[in-house]
Amino acid sequence: MLQNLKYKLARFMTGRYGMDQFTRFLSAAAFVMLLLGLFTRKGIFTYIILALIVYMYYRVLSKDIAKRSAENQKFLSFWSKATEGLGRTKRRLLDMKTHHIYKCPSCGQKIRIPRGKGKIEISCPKCSTKFIKNS
Ligand SMILES: [Zn+2]
Repeated sequence: MLQNLKYKLARFMTGRYGMDQFTRFLSAAAFVMLLLGLFTRKGIFTYIILALIVYMYYRVLSKDIAKRSAENQKFLSFWSKATEGLGRTKRRLLDMKTHHIYKCPSCGQKIRIPRGKGKIEISCPKCSTKFIKNS
């Protein structure tokens, strides 16, 4: 009986696009909307969730595999750019804890100096101006 159902499902899904990363992202977005809806008690989220679910089913059951997979590629490149930007910001914030960026007083060259070394003489790598800073 269950085997039969599985078989029927497999036959139904043949030639259809199925699950991908973009759909997974959409389901995560729907979950976030669900939480937001619960907290804010705004009805608008119900409509957004319904729209997301309809769109997810549409993609999973779609037979236009080339088009869906192109959408997924677009999403993946957007996603990698977004996470890359986040990673860069995080690294910069972490770096601020251990290093300080000074500007050369004569040419404006930025110089990265470790913190906590007391008074140090910095010499600019570009114009070799020397200046004293408290690191
Ligand atoms: Zn300089």
